[in-house]
Amino acid sequence: MLGIGSIAKKVFGTPNDRKIKATRPLVEKINALEPEFEKLSDEGLKQKTAELRQKVAEGASLDDLLPEAFANCREAAKRALGLRAFDTQLMGAIFLHQGNIAEQKTGEGKTLTATFAAYLNALVGKGVHVVTVNEYLARRDSEWMSKVYAALGLSTGVIHSDMPHDAKMTAYTSDITYGTNNEFGFDYLRDNMKSELSQLFQKHHHFAIVDEVDSILIDEARTPLIISGQATDRSELYQTIDAVIPLLTEEHFTIDEKTRNVTFTDEGNEFLEEQLRARGLLDEDATLYDPESTTIVHHVNQGLRAHKIFQKDKDYIVRNGEIVLVDEFTGRMMAGRRLSDGLHQAIEAKEGVEIKPENVTMASVTFQNYFRLYDKLAGMTGTAATEADEFMEIYGLGVVEVPTNLPIARADEDDQVYRTAREKYEAMIEEVRKAHEKNQPALVGTTSIEKSEMLSQMLTKVGVPHNVLNARQHEQEAQIVADAGKLGAVTIATNMAGRGTDIKLGGNVEFKIMEAIAANPEEHPDVIRKQIEEQHKADEDAVKAAGGLFVLGSERHESRRIDNQLRGRSGRQGDPGRTVFFLSLEDDLMRIFGSERLEKVLKTLGLKEGEAIVHPWVNKSLERAQAKVEGRNFDMRKQILKFDDVMNDQRKVIFAQRREIMEAKDLSEIVGDMRHQVIDDLIDAHMPPKTYADQWDIQGLYAEVIAKLGIDVPVMEWAEEEGVDDEDIRERLIKAADEYMAKKTVEFGPENMRSIEKQVLLQTIDTKWREHLLTLEHLRSVVGFRGYAQRDPLNEYKNESFQLFESMLDSLRESVTQNLSQIRLPTEEEQRAWMEQVAAQQRAAQAAAPQPEMAGAEAETAEADEEPGAPLPGFDENDQTTWGNPGRNEKCPCGSGKKFKHCHGKLS
Ligand code: ADP
Repeated sequence: MLGIGSIAKKVFGTPNDRKIKATRPLVEKINALEPEFEKLSDEGLKQKTAELRQKVAEGASLDDLLPEAFANCREAAKRALGLRAFDTQLMGAIFLHQGNIAEQKTGEGKTLTATFAAYLNALVGKGVHVVTVNEYLARRDSEWMSKVYAALGLSTGVIHSDMPHDAKMTAYTSDITYGTNNEFGFDYLRDNMKSELSQLFQKHHHFAIVDEVDSILIDEARTPLIISGQATDRSELYQTIDAVIPLLTEEHFTIDEKTRNVTFTDEGNEFLEEQLRARGLLDEDATLYDPESTTIVHHVNQGLRAHKIFQKDKDYIVRNGEIVLVDEFTGRMMAGRRLSDGLHQAIEAKEGVEIKPENVTMASVTFQNYFRLYDKLAGMTGTAATEADEFMEIYGLGVVEVPTNLPIARADEDDQVYRTAREKYEAMIEEVRKAHEKNQPALVGTTSIEKSEMLSQMLTKVGVPHNVLNARQHEQEAQIVADAGKLGAVTIATNMAGRGTDIKLGGNVEFKIMEAIAANPEEHPDVIRKQIEEQHKADEDAVKAAGGLFVLGSERHESRRIDNQLRGRSGRQGDPGRTVFFLSLEDDLMRIFGSERLEKVLKTLGLKEGEAIVHPWVNKSLERAQAKVEGRNFDMRKQILKFDDVMNDQRKVIFAQRREIMEAKDLSEIVGDMRHQVIDDLIDAHMPPKTYADQWDIQGLYAEVIAKLGIDVPVMEWAEEEGVDDEDIRERLIKAADEYMAKKTVEFGPENMRSIEKQVLLQTIDTKWREHLLTLEHLRSVVGFRGYAQRDPLNEYKNESFQLFESMLDSLRESVTQNLSQIRLPTEEEQRAWMEQVAAQQRAAQAAAPQPEMAGAEAETAEADEEPGAPLPGFDENDQTTWGNPGRNEKCPCGSGKKFKHCHGKLS
């Protein structure tokens, strides 16, 4: 019997049906335009693009231009690729343009779908980014689709990780840029370390289409991209803390063996405060609960973990003066691996070996936050519907299930549940053997490399030839996956393998043709093509007759989405196919989440050796368990995101500020305001409001004025004058400081001064921001530790990080003022030394290009990432003494355009 919901759906259609229906008139419009566009010459298509661009410039909305643009794009694709986009592809593209996720099954042609939305949105002239999960796909898709864009008069670029700066810049200035999520993310971080506007890769975040969007925005959402560099040496801090730890007694802390965490008790905190004060690590009036103490607390914590949790010769060994970690499961040494967050250093201090500096984060962003930067975001994938809530809640992305071009003819069978894993695998091998015997291609999906290997051994034993894939070599794998639909092929793959390549029955005809042409160079390619195409048709028919692709899942994943991905490999474009999952009561999901009822039923049925139970009820109950796990994982991601958001908001402020500074021509007013604010703060600190002259600390003020403003003025005398108050002193200080800086401006020349101000501001922001990032990381790890009774760690984190942010801004103002007050023209000697240093740095930077890292486990591997030095302040092309030491083959600094050795550097 149908439930009320189902009846309603029958009558009114689902919300999804209504969305699909709403696009029909648009699709019909595009179809109606087809004959008109068919008549256009190749040049005419490009002309059309120019026209549409003009209309956009004049204010036409993209929605209004959509039918014409899509008709133009369809025609271009027909001519450039020989593919006429299906109506379902147009629909998908409409949803992309509207900023949705288009769920399109494997083989429906998402790559081509994306070009329509990309083309339309590129008409605005701010670039469109198409994001793929690996570089192989970025290259393949851009090469393939660039033909369509070229036919439309648009340029295509592709970015990859080892690319010269200029080439990458060209790729970014193209109308459409393909690249991986990693590379786009890293370039964003790199951009925010630059000081010249013209050097920015990503001038806009206009529109991004993310392919395999579920894997990027859900599976990898929280992977932070990190560019790191080495911190300054802080061995003393570690050693001091290390000396305190052995003084602690049992009542000072508690240990949680399971989570390997330690917490201090109230007694412990008090004791620590005393000890740290005595050693000068904590100010007399400071406590461990102050936000400023975050870093100390963090390191004390790590010190305690190093002593109480990490055991020598169990967790690590000391070898040649180094700490070498030991793998807890295998007992193997993990040379070169380092624990992060100062823990490794704490262990080094404990064992009295050399303390190596920790890596610090110079910039970081999660995919989640990176992709939220775009004005408009869209995504494509074969499987998104199960995570629709999350996409909506976090990214504001709707999910629309686009109908398939042809009806799905695949048979998705109910799960087969065995008692033991062994019986399950044996049954699978038998199924594969049978399929292979009748020439039906089979794809076996596993969840890990080990399981793939085990199944591979079992298949070898029964003599079934097969391929094993595990997502290591994207390019090779794509080829093998393309072949996985050949007659009788057997392929074992982990979930990730061969992603982005669809499996065609009978194999990939284009690959076959390419191979045959390469093997028979004498034969005319057209002849070969025809032959292969005929043969392929026969192969395809034979595979169809054998039942199409047979997909066997060896386990159910926690997430239904991943299971659906595997199923979706079969039955593309209306092909026949069969999918089934093999499970056992020993599987993780069954053990942990399978309901007790399920187990009871299975027991009552009294399963015998080698027998399976197959019933829709089992599927339903497993799906419920999966939905529960999915919900829990989503909640966890949401919680973590809330923490991320705090830092993200601050990052947005800082990066926006940076950008404004880069764009500004004259920052003298801003730095002037900063200077005045610093003076205000100095007055407030040394001559607090509502105090009398005898309570003022004029001596202290005098010293600070010299240190921070660079001026030596008779503050003491001023203060002794009759009737002078804080306001008068403030005004005199402002006047003196402004005059002092004005003199410097004359000395350097206003233009140079403007450029120095910019450099100093940017560099100071960067330094302060990096320090702040580190403090935030520490804060995050200690909010839980402080044992706030009944207080929400997230709130604590929010409040304190806000305070820390404010004090960072204060100290930024101070540093900028101080640095600017101390600039002076360098002596000739200094200049030469400086130029040499810059040249050496650049050589070193070229030799070891910065390696951005993906934050993985607790390991740190990144190299130092130093930006090459800024141009020498005071450089003047008319004054050879300001040039330093130009390279002989470089352009002459005088601007003649000739090489230095042929111009001012000519040896007479
Ligand atoms: P998906 O990413 O959706 O699985 P792809 O973009 O990789 O699919 O395309 C799968 C295959 O479908 C490709 O070989 C492509 O040539 C083919 N294809 C795409 N669009 C069309 C079309 N309109 N007509 C015929 N074949 C198409």
